[in-house]
Amino acid sequence: MFDSLSDRLGGVFDKLRGRGALKEQDVRDAMREVRIALLEADVALPVVRRFVDQVTEKAVGQDVLRSVTPGQQVIKIVNDALIETLGGDTTPELDLNATPPIVIMMVGLQGSGKTTSTAKIAKLLKEKHGKKAMMASLDVNRPAAQEQLKVLGEQVGVATLPIIAGQQPTEIATRALQSAKLQAVDVLLLDTAGRLHVDQQLMDEMKAVSAISTPREVLLVVDSLTGQDAVNVAQSFAGQVDLTGVVLTRMDGDARGGAALSMRAVTGKPIKFAGTGEKLDAIEVFQPARVANRILG
Ligand code: GDP
Repeated sequence: MFDSLSDRLGGVFDKLRGRGALKEQDVRDAMREVRIALLEADVALPVVRRFVDQVTEKAVGQDVLRSVTPGQQVIKIVNDALIETLGGDTTPELDLNATPPIVIMMVGLQGSGKTTSTAKIAKLLKEKHGKKAMMASLDVNRPAAQEQLKVLGEQVGVATLPIIAGQQPTEIATRALQSAKLQAVDVLLLDTAGRLHVDQQLMDEMKAVSAISTPREVLLVVDSLTGQDAVNVAQSFAGQVDLTGVVLTRMDGDARGGAALSMRAVTGKPIKFAGTGEKLDAIEVFQPARVANRILG
């Protein structure tokens, strides 16, 4: 995760640490390299600019340059700025403060890891939060989608809504809610249909399902490997539905980190979970401080 970004930044900071005293120009040179490293990591340009400006402003202050360990201080400033860019100090929790069944709606493009993430979160809710969960697939476009969720449900030990062929997404959502109420389910996860591209039909369907189910959480699943595209997708969705958070998948293979670093700043939406592998327990609550730590090594 973030290996290439981490290597680049590591190189810059080794140089800073190596010097006893630092001049303003040393900091500016280092920041120029940080800027290049972030751009190569596919971080959105405005985010890079803000990051570098903020860090430079703090780091060239006399307090830092005259201190005993200026290199360390600059690295600390970068660390703090990374945490802020990734979403700040607090870990965004799922909002489960509502009368059950609490609905979590999962949205995203096909292939982003949406169905897998739905099952991973259901497993987490069951095992870590002691919740009775239930899942329903509203994907009527891809023939195997409903079956896929059923199989995953069996693997994680979470019930899925029985499949009735020919039903429309809003009908399935209504049936899922009724069933969840009858069975005293705490959290109902709705896995909505994905498409290859953001299109209006997908958006309309998503809005209709949202209107029926009044979700407490609307989580957008995006693939971190798509870099800035992931952020663009998030912006499109955020313009149509009230997203409460993002699930960033395939972080295990993401050497660059551009999506993670741009998401919050560009869309204003917190990354709530990171997918870290194909296995059904390969999901982490996204903790900016821990992620920053990994990046800085
Ligand atoms: P959907 O079309 O969005 O529902 O995507 P799927 O949930 O079917 O996932 C597509 C593929 O991506 C599957 O092979 C998953 O195992 C894989 N996948 C999902 N999340 C992750 C992740 O965080 N890391 C890795 N390495 N693979 C993932």
